[in-house]
Amino acid sequence: MEPTARTAPAAVIVAIDGPSGTGKSSTSKAVAAKLGLSYLDTGAQYRAITWWMVTNGIDIEDPQAIAVASAKPVIVSGTDPHAPTITVDGVDVAGPIRTQEVTSNVSAVSAVPEVRTRITELQRSIAAQAEGGIVVEGRDIGTTVLPDADLKVFLTASPEARAARRSGELKGKDAADLAATKDALVRRDAADSGRKVSPLAKASDAVEVDTTTLTLDQVIDRVVTLVEDRRGAIEKTGRRVGHE
Ligand code: C5P
Repeated sequence: MEPTARTAPAAVIVAIDGPSGTGKSSTSKAVAAKLGLSYLDTGAQYRAITWWMVTNGIDIEDPQAIAVASAKPVIVSGTDPHAPTITVDGVDVAGPIRTQEVTSNVSAVSAVPEVRTRITELQRSIAAQAEGGIVVEGRDIGTTVLPDADLKVFLTASPEARAARRSGELKGKDAADLAATKDALVRRDAADSGRKVSPLAKASDAVEVDTTTLTLDQVIDRVVTLVEDRRGAIEKTGRRVGHE
């Protein structure tokens, strides 16, 4: 018997934005793995460039110094959702980019326009090379980096729920109590939302999912359904929604 001819599913570009503690990374990785898409954690890229600045003694208070240095580090992201990687100048920095020192400096570094231009270009080239489609997570993906994405999702949750999740993640590594974690999160959100260049924002055409009372599996299921629906629409029309 002749095997049935099957065409590969349409490549989809999915932008998932939102503040930290909304389950963005876990959701994005799981959705990409379930649907056979690549995965890019753009926060890891901003953390990587921040790690390089701190390690090389660049004054974080000096945006000019950061701007001048921003072209130097070579940042490479591996986009397999089962084993994402991040290196700077060939060094694996997956661990060091999660330290408190990097976390407390990343908003200042990522607010420098030259840093954003450089990292945005990198993100666009990675998305363009992902032939089967990609899930890109961050703060400004739907608004600035990939405004033509096939699907945009904006995840939210109450500050209390976000702080509780973050404290769980940090258990054993950081003695910060819930209140301190919440204060730090709210401060980082305010800095990310208030910066001049491509702040954390919901795109007008993004689907908002409030994760406060949902389990991670429920959020993943919801986003998988959204992607499958969009992929179905693309396959039906033969072209991407929003792409003439
Ligand atoms: O997602 P994560 O918490 O690892 O992001 C770390 C920081 O990177 C954010 O607080 C923000 O300052 C910056 N970021 C950004 N734009 C993105 C992703 C992250 O400015 N698209």
